[in-house]
Amino acid sequence: MSALSLNVDFHSHSTISDGMLSPSALAARAKANGVDVWALTDHDELAGIPEAREAAAALNMRFVTGVEISITWAGKTIHIVGLNIDENNHDLIQGLAKTRSGRERRARDMSADLAKRAGIEGVYEGALKYVGNPNLISRSHFARYLLEIGACSSVSDAFKKYLSEGKPGYVPHRWATLEEAVSWIRGAGGAAIVAHPGRYDLTPIAYDSFFREFKALGGVAIETVTGSHSVDQYDEYTRIANQYGFLVSRGSDFHSPDDAEVDIGKLPAMPKASKPVWETWFSA
Ligand code: AMP
Ligand code: MN
Ligand code: MN
Ligand code: MN
Repeated sequence: MSALSLNVDFHSHSTISDGMLSPSALAARAKANGVDVWALTDHDELAGIPEAREAAAALNMRFVTGVEISITWAGKTIHIVGLNIDENNHDLIQGLAKTRSGRERRARDMSADLAKRAGIEGVYEGALKYVGNPNLISRSHFARYLLEIGACSSVSDAFKKYLSEGKPGYVPHRWATLEEAVSWIRGAGGAAIVAHPGRYDLTPIAYDSFFREFKALGGVAIETVTGSHSVDQYDEYTRIANQYGFLVSRGSDFHSPDDAEVDIGKLPAMPKASKPVWETWFSA
């Protein structure tokens, strides 16, 4: 079996960040959906890895350590996935703790803003019901509560109405820098990968600077086939990867059975021109 035909899902979230399934429930769903190699990539957190690894081993499914780090670059929020990291690396652990530390304050400010500008009270307390890890309160938890009280028609509608830039529940936040995220991942022996590159609000010139800077810092890959991309973007980002000399990665970005764009393990095949980041990781 060639590397490209392995069913790889290297982007997923558990209750340790903003997913709805525990790491072991996620492992079971991945296995049931035919995943050959799985990575858990919780936002700014490594705490789910031991349970995920154990569950994957019990299911006889290959497992790769992962994380999705939030960064701020040119004033925009971008996500960098780290794969094959040593989850016991001190600098990575410290760096992620620092990245997480502003989330509590931000959540309280978001709630105050929603009360003041949208007249919706108590969203912080309501969102907490959905939070599995008190260190990682996210906009997704706010979205689930806003849906519960009928303030919006879906999770993505909650983002459209309240949680994106310029809306009443949006509070700007400064995450890690690109340089920090890449150096933490590389320092922990891992591969740094741009998550869902098609999703950012950057001009073509800014995209080019971003990719060049990422490459110069030692970033190795970008995601192409991901639940966050349109089908056209699978090919578009495969071309871009080859143009910049990046390898490619693949992952559903699965969060919840209720509102998944793509279920875990259910992505289409990789374009033929792909050079997968996992090519040298497994004997297949
Ligand atoms: P945060 O890290 O708290 O800013 O939350 C970011 C998370 O919100 C992302 O990882 C996604 O899971 C989710 N998210 C962002 N934008 C949307 C959207 N338009 N629809 C659904 N979920 C979204
Ligand atoms: Mn998320
Ligand atoms: Mn992301
Ligand atoms: Mn994600």
